[in-house]
Amino acid sequence: MAVREIVVHPHPILRKKAREVQDFGQELQQLIEDMFDTLRWASGVGLAAPQVNVPLRVLVVEYAHEEGIPPERYALVNPKLVYVSPETEIGTEGCLSIPGVFGEVVRARSIIVTGQDRFGNPITIRAHGWLARIFQHEIDHLNGILFIDKALRTWKETPEPTEMVLQARK
Ligand code: ZN
Repeated sequence: MAVREIVVHPHPILRKKAREVQDFGQELQQLIEDMFDTLRWASGVGLAAPQVNVPLRVLVVEYAHEEGIPPERYALVNPKLVYVSPETEIGTEGCLSIPGVFGEVVRARSIIVTGQDRFGNPITIRAHGWLARIFQHEIDHLNGILFIDKALRTWKETPEPTEMVLQARK
């Protein structure tokens, strides 16, 4: 298990466009394992490689639609949003790289995303609701976009216990 340090806004890597992955070798496998470890450690639902200071187009998602059911896990490389529904919805988002800040963001209700799995095989994912929101948020990270750029309004909340741990780690 290797938890990597999560970079925090306004770190410049969060504003850069991440590079396409070309090499699906051991280094990428380790990155993806570490990203899942880091995501679980931080109790998040999605993480993009720039958030662990790696400028590559890689994201991981681990999301349970309901408590008590096993989460859906995705590791997605070089993702492309190939469909966004015209129907949108407003939801509250936070970000592991912007601790303590939340905001209301309008996102497409349904999406289709294509890309590659961790071994380079093509994959297509259809997502709806919260899962679609997570993918949109994480793909934005690969383009240097943060949810605070899109939020209708943002507010600060007392840090959650995990965020306090994150800050204590620095
Ligand atoms: Zn984020």
